[in-house]
Amino acid sequence: MASIEQISVDKHECVSIFNDRSVGLTAIIAVHDTTLGPGLGGCRMKMYDSLDEAMYDVLRLSQGMTYKNALAGLPLGGGKSVIIKDNALEEGRDDFFLAFGRCVAAMNGKYITAEDIGTRVSDMETVLQVCDFVTGRDPAKGGAGDPSPWTAQGVFEGMRACLEATFDSASFAEKRVAIQGVGSVGHHLARHLVEAGARITITDPDEERLRAVVDELGAEVVSLDEIYSVDCDIFAPCAIGATINGKTIPQLSCSIVAGAANNQLITDDIEAELASRGILYAPDFAINAGGVIMCADELEPDGFKAERVKERVSHVYDTIVAVLKRAKSENALAGQVAIQLAKDRIQAARKE
Ligand code: NAD
Repeated sequence: MASIEQISVDKHECVSIFNDRSVGLTAIIAVHDTTLGPGLGGCRMKMYDSLDEAMYDVLRLSQGMTYKNALAGLPLGGGKSVIIKDNALEEGRDDFFLAFGRCVAAMNGKYITAEDIGTRVSDMETVLQVCDFVTGRDPAKGGAGDPSPWTAQGVFEGMRACLEATFDSASFAEKRVAIQGVGSVGHHLARHLVEAGARITITDPDEERLRAVVDELGAEVVSLDEIYSVDCDIFAPCAIGATINGKTIPQLSCSIVAGAANNQLITDDIEAELASRGILYAPDFAINAGGVIMCADELEPDGFKAERVKERVSHVYDTIVAVLKRAKSENALAGQVAIQLAKDRIQAARKE
């Protein structure tokens, strides 16, 4: 069994560091806030340079999950876990994730884990053998499977809200969307957009993924650097974080930034730079909540129901409308408003 060290971290309910020498596991589980329910957030596995770096990541991510889950209207708080290990680990992977599962079990339901960068659905099935607090499981075993189609649906709904706020019409006809990254979410999103009448310009370092979208949907392709300056209505970051930064903002030729990627803005305050150029920003954690809405559904007493998820994800539209309306009326940035709305929901639950 792992040794557990609980440390006190300002603004977090509980942060535990687990060490299990028998399998070489070092993990941190951070629970930010459980006012609305257990802290749900994925398990990220990567070779962090230090415990401090892993700690910084898990604290930031678990706080982000509190806001994402609250804003999505889920009965869940925010949590996250990180494992300091090369995610290519193959030998002994089952024993490794059984050990991690015992760490999750030790949290007694305060934290619910799921797949994230570096971990797999099969790892979550392993975790399930020793603890119940896991979601995003294998569809063959009653789980919900790949969250990407739901994330893409949510982003599409959020884009409709952004179009309405900017052009007084949610129609995609004659609109151009530049998609940065056509992986799992980007490809599904491209399908929604083309079906709705939009024209798309795409980029991705992966030639196969580009080809798949071009063959299926007939997209225009540009280089990785050219994507920022595409003359378009919506720029959709769907690849990596921090692509909206001091270097890229002057290149943007769009009215809206709305996409699936986490942490799109290099720093929160750079949203002001977008606003000063008249570019509307859909807060990433608000618009990309479709995946977590799916994961949450798997926890319902009657299990995952695709129709219910579809209906719930459609409300990402309402969330973005609410955020943008309040931002406009208060002359505030959408990112700050989204966090405030999430905090308001948590505060109201505390009073109850
Ligand atoms: P993915 O790995 O399937 O796709 C990412 C794509 O981006 C890949 O095709 C990759 O080649 C491409 N890419 C990498 N660097 C690039 C660059 N510099 N420029 C352009 N393209 C680049 O990942 P995904 O599941 O589609 O997720 C995309 C983003 O959305 C990630 O930031 C992820 O954290 C976020 N997100 C995903 C989900 C989900 O349900 N999958 C949910 C919430 C947030």
